[in-house]
Amino acid sequence: MTTSSVYGRVHSLQSMGTLDGPGVRFVVFLQGCPLRCHCCHNPDTWAIDGGTPYTAEELTKRALRFREYFGDEGGVTVSGGEPLLQPAFVREFFTRCHEHGLNTCLDTSGCLLNDDVLDVTDRMLLDIKYTNDADYRAYVGCEMNKPLAFLERLTEKGIPTTLRQVIIPTVNDTDDNVLVLKRIAEAHPNVDKIELLPFRKLCQVKYDNMGLTFPFGRLPEPTKEHMAHLQSLL
Ligand code: SF4
Repeated sequence: MTTSSVYGRVHSLQSMGTLDGPGVRFVVFLQGCPLRCHCCHNPDTWAIDGGTPYTAEELTKRALRFREYFGDEGGVTVSGGEPLLQPAFVREFFTRCHEHGLNTCLDTSGCLLNDDVLDVTDRMLLDIKYTNDADYRAYVGCEMNKPLAFLERLTEKGIPTTLRQVIIPTVNDTDDNVLVLKRIAEAHPNVDKIELLPFRKLCQVKYDNMGLTFPFGRLPEPTKEHMAHLQSLL
């Protein structure tokens, strides 16, 4: 590939992450998000004009430094913010990673569909934040049919997909919600995993520093026992 011309705005890098996709991964958190989820853990990623500019070439070189740790399952993950706000950059980075045999994984809200990026993505981590449209509109700021249409496209393309959902007490921590999520997964044969993640409030300090209200800051975190119960339904 020729020299990079597209710059990506990067919030932060994680050299060897184990939480965002299979195996050990070089994780790129991109800057910028069009949504304002009430549970958002990273309000510092929202502004598209923040972050540090990198070329895809520079990032690929960095990722390659860690390739011996990736093993058979690992590789690179691009997360955010919302990575599909910068599709040309993600496409170039993933294309370069493929040239070096690195597995590519994208972590997205599914609110912005982009086939050019899907075509170079080996695994999708798709956040289905709620299982009804009213909650999506109230707590995310988009319609639920956006991530559902995104999921349909992943199924058409046969892209292996992990569904993820943050479990928030009093909002979506019911058996019924998790069973609906399970039914959504079962209706899409490319979905091979569901991850339930506990709502956490460590980010309160970020909201405080930015002079913002954390909309779900008054809600409790879920207990380990309740998370285990919900996981057992899957
Ligand atoms: S999509 Fe992610 S980064 Fe954007 S507001 Fe929601 S939780 Fe935050």
